[in-house]
Order: sequence, then structure tokens, then C-alpha cells
Amino acid sequence: MDPILSFKNVGFRYDRSWAMRNLNLDIRPGELWGILGPNGSGKSTLLSVADGILAPQEGQVLLENIPMSSFTRLALAGKVAMVAQESYFRFSFSTLEVVLMGRFPHLKRFQFEGKKDIEVAFKALEATDCLEIAQRSIHELSGGEKQRVLIARALAQEPTIILLDESTSFLDLRYKKEIFDLIFSLTRERGVSVLVVSHDIDLSAQYCDRMVMLKGGRIHSTGVPADVITVSNIESVYGCQVIVDKNPAKGSPRVSLV
Ligand code: ADP
Ligand code: MG
Repeated sequence: MDPILSFKNVGFRYDRSWAMRNLNLDIRPGELWGILGPNGSGKSTLLSVADGILAPQEGQVLLENIPMSSFTRLALAGKVAMVAQESYFRFSFSTLEVVLMGRFPHLKRFQFEGKKDIEVAFKALEATDCLEIAQRSIHELSGGEKQRVLIARALAQEPTIILLDESTSFLDLRYKKEIFDLIFSLTRERGVSVLVVSHDIDLSAQYCDRMVMLKGGRIHSTGVPADVITVSNIESVYGCQVIVDKNPAKGSPRVSLV
């Protein structure tokens, strides 16, 4: 299968030093990718480039084999949805209003949301367990609830690629699992490709098809979880001693600090 998203020798810098360089990646439809790496290693930069918010100064990003730079912002939003690390809402929108915002790439100019849009929004609220908070103000929600609303907005966008930046960080154990279950089912049932940045290494390893470990803006290792989550990779990238064994339930790699 042709990749839906390709990074070809991509480099990006905010200022003089490169935040990301020599990046090559091929993401295929329906794949779930985990992006790992310590703070400042370029994970968020990678997602912003994949979302088209940041244009690389080196190399090229291809979306469905077409250079990303040739898409309009609106056309991109119909294909790629980002659940950002931080979101700020100036107005006290309700959960439902925030999720409906996800429909904007599907609306015509000056068109209001119709029956289909409301239906899609409610499905997204249901999938993320947000129905009960549909009328609450986004400003009143807990960190975890807000993350689920932002994921619901991304679902409502009906994209083919979803990018999640540390979305599970503030969630309790049950919701962490539910979010991973949800994104996993999106990849399997709808063929959506998902890139998750997460510090939950074990959990990512349980669900992801492939992983990338970044160090200083470059790919240190990539492959299936068992090839990436190794003692030597983790020690050289995170600089701490670990033991890696297998998750007794799933057989995926499991990391313990020494
Ligand atoms: P991560 O998400 O892995 O923590 P980032 O992609 O946010 O890493 O950052 C990668 C590098 O780029 C870091 O050195 C960071 O300081 C730098 N950086 C990130 N955002 C900006 C910005 N807006 N302006 C300048 N430098 C930035
Ligand atoms: Mg980040």
C-alpha cells in the first residue's frame, strides 16, 4: 500500500538550530504510530509539520503523494486533525460547540452546520464518553475531560490522519486505556492513520504498529515496538537505566526504571 503521509529528508528550524532534521518516514493507511523521545527532542515539531502548520525548510512532506505545500489550509483540515498539547479557548464555548468546530472543513462558505454535522458531532461525543458534558463550558472541564473533548473535535473533523500530542498525559488509567482503544479501533475499522506522541511508553507499545524514537530532532530508532523499546535505545536516548521485559498480558515490551 502507498504511504498516505511521507517525510522525505525533512528538516525544520524555528531559529538557527534545527529542531528536526534528516527525517524520513512512511505512514500507511490504518497504521498506528507512537512517537517517543525526551522533552525537546522534536515530537511536537514533527506533528506540526505533519499537520502542515509548520512548513519545513528542508526536504518535503507528501500527503497522498502530493506535496503538502500545494494544499490549502481548509483542504488540509479535511484530511488531517491535530489534538494539540495545549488549547486555549477565549470564549466560554460549550463542549458541543467545540466539537462542532471540527466540522468547519466540511462546510461551504457562510454555511451553518446541518443535520449531518450534528449527527457526526454527537457520534464523536459518544465515542469519547462526552455526552454528559455536552452542554458544559469548556472552561469548567477538568484536564482529562478537556482532552476528550478535543479528541471528539478531531473525530468530528472526519480526517484520514489524526495527530495526538500527549493527549493521554492527564487522563486517569481507565481513560488512557479507552483513548488507546478508541484510536486503535479507528485505525482498524476506518483505516485512519494515527500518530500519537506519548510518554506512556508501555501503553504505546501495547497498541502501536510502529514507533519512532527521537533524539535531538533526529530519528534514533524506528520499527515495531520490540525493536525500538530496548535497553540500549532507552538508555542512550533518555539517559537512565532500565530493565525491559514483556508485558505479561500482551507480550509487548515493558519498561521498568532501575
Ligand atoms: P518535544 O515536543 O519533543 O518536547 P519540541 O518539538 O516542542 O519538542 O521542540 C523541539 C526543539 O525546538 C526544542 O529545542 C525546542 O526548544 C525548540 N522549539 C520548540 N518550539 C519552538 C518555538 N516556537 N520557537 C523556537 N524554538 C522552539
Ligand atoms: Mg511536545
